[in-house]
Amino acid sequence: MRALVYHGPKDVSVDEVPDARIEQPTDAVVRITTTNICGSDLHMYEGRTDVETGKILGHENMGEVLEVGSGVVKVRVGDMVVLPFNIACGFCKNCNAGLTGFCLTVNPGSAGGAYGYADMGPYAGGQAEYLRVPFADFNALVLPGDAEEKQRDYTMLSDILPTGYHGTELAQVRTGDSVVVYGAGPVGLMAALSAQIRGAAEVFVIDHQPDRLRLAERVGAIPIDDSNGDAVQQVLDATGGQGADKGVEAVGYQAHDHTGEERPGITINSLIQAVRPTGRIGVVGVFVPQDPSAADELAKQGEFVMDFGTFFFKGQSIGTGQANVKQYNRGLRNLIHRDRIHPGIIVSHELSLDEAAEGYRRFDAREDGWTKVLLHP
Ligand code: NAD
Ligand code: ZN
Repeated sequence: MRALVYHGPKDVSVDEVPDARIEQPTDAVVRITTTNICGSDLHMYEGRTDVETGKILGHENMGEVLEVGSGVVKVRVGDMVVLPFNIACGFCKNCNAGLTGFCLTVNPGSAGGAYGYADMGPYAGGQAEYLRVPFADFNALVLPGDAEEKQRDYTMLSDILPTGYHGTELAQVRTGDSVVVYGAGPVGLMAALSAQIRGAAEVFVIDHQPDRLRLAERVGAIPIDDSNGDAVQQVLDATGGQGADKGVEAVGYQAHDHTGEERPGITINSLIQAVRPTGRIGVVGVFVPQDPSAADELAKQGEFVMDFGTFFFKGQSIGTGQANVKQYNRGLRNLIHRDRIHPGIIVSHELSLDEAAEGYRRFDAREDGWTKVLLHP
């Protein structure tokens, strides 16, 4: 089969590789119809992880079930399915608690598995013609009959919609809240949409990329451009000086200011300022573990000083971590099916698999208008 393979920093290509196949009775093989390039893929693409060369990338996958193992009882050949980026067993201590992003079975010695990702187990990604899905009954969400026509919406269920939703869950967004979201990338835009699903009265989205701020407006949020002046002050002005009730971080360790200068952690400290006392903050932007013995490495990996004192005095709370996609997916699928939400409006490009390397290059360069790239193998 053909698949997008990682060869080294900024070096990916579509190669001929062995077909995905059933390895365990609980596996399925899915023929991929849509697989997306994610901001998280860029951590690997840019060479900032220890992902092994030869790895097939791609954790935002949907498609048609082609084959099932003898132990698969619910998912059937021909079903259209979307696959949470988390690979989970469904029966360990964490899965039982709904914490499928931290499954203890699929990535022994660590927690959490994913397709085509560094340090998340030995699983191939889905930027390919076919994908092996472990524990298929648990990990495949079957889609209704409109799956093909709403592919651009349903494909967001593999990661960024539930991840944005997770940010609002961690922040405990409730009816009538004001919410500030840092980052108008795909995850931030889906967090803004999710805040509204949960009944937020007003949502501010901060970024400095005009094309993305326009999309923030299209999903119903108030865009704030931090190149027009201090974003925290703009939020305080808009909330009578109090700050927003809740905050979501959807940028991660690669934060920069509007001039492009890297400012690790600036979004965390800005959220502490922009959220009211006792307000809660959800962090879904990725921050990498830091090795306290390697100071130089630390600076490169995004060391920053958290304003913990202000955080303490404002009595705020913070929730972090990988999204437990399965917790949210069924309900979000139903909202798409009933035409209540249209997350697919953020899609900017739909390419064939053979155009994937070009898609990575232009998405990584954050070329104007390259918000969300879908690949159709
Ligand atoms: P992205 O890089 O496309 O978007 C990030 C956006 O943040 C960009 O538009 C950028 O201009 C903006 N930004 C940068 N610095 C800023 C600042 N100081 N203030 C305001 N905006 C700023 O990435 P994405 O795909 O939207 O993902 C966002 C983060 O979420 C990444 O770290 C990604 O790895 C992470 N993520 C986490 C999970 C999870 O389960 N927790 C899942 C998917 C992605
Ligand atoms: Zn993703």
